[in-house]
Amino acid sequence: MNKNSQKFFRDNGLSSGILNQYPEIFHSFGSRVNGLSPQKSQHPDHLYKCAQQAANNAGVDINQIVCMEQIHSNNVQIVKSPGIYEQTDGVITQKTDLVLCIQTADCAPIFLFDPDSRAIAALHGGWRGISRDIIANAVKIMKNNFNVNPKKLITAIGPSLRNSCFEIGEDVLHHFDKKFISNKENQYYLKFVELIKSKLNDSGITNHNIDILNYCTQCNPEQFFSYRGDDQITGRMLNFIGMGLVE
Ligand SMILES: [Zn+2]
Repeated sequence: MNKNSQKFFRDNGLSSGILNQYPEIFHSFGSRVNGLSPQKSQHPDHLYKCAQQAANNAGVDINQIVCMEQIHSNNVQIVKSPGIYEQTDGVITQKTDLVLCIQTADCAPIFLFDPDSRAIAALHGGWRGISRDIIANAVKIMKNNFNVNPKKLITAIGPSLRNSCFEIGEDVLHHFDKKFISNKENQYYLKFVELIKSKLNDSGITNHNIDILNYCTQCNPEQFFSYRGDDQITGRMLNFIGMGLVE
């Protein structure tokens, strides 16, 4: 990551105030400006090429990019080399020459950073992955491998579908505790951010270390792609986190 790339992302994306307190890491939540354009092909190789292209446009070395196939699972793995990781929704690394990428268009991009071990994680947080405890999996892996104390973990949740836009069908209600569901005129809505926050808390992450970027992807169509808002054929925001600023 060089300074021009940092500037590009700062200018074209959003960042978390808490994570910005740590100059040793770099991150950006994407917008339409630096995202993947709408496309029919979701093949992992195609996606990786597009992500590399988008990164390249921003001046990031395409040989540093780590992408995930993203299948709404709770699969998390430690990565030590660039590439596309199949059947994975979370990646963790301590390596300073990798840039982790999450693609989103309503799901929540979630970044975790441990200032002590300097481990970073990027999680694709859809309701399925969150319900399947992708957060607990990631924190457990960070604890076991990098001796991370969850109380010190810094977390940021990027733009996603939010409360009054997150309509859910009766068929999926059983996945959630009642306190995360609201009901208006016989329609159910998921309190998505509250659910994510509660899962972070369950894993030992404290509220003062959780930053929530307050943007709904569907309510801000000029800024964000939205799977629901754009009627399913839409682009993807690219969200990046990495370490090691190259001078
Ligand atoms: Zn909304």
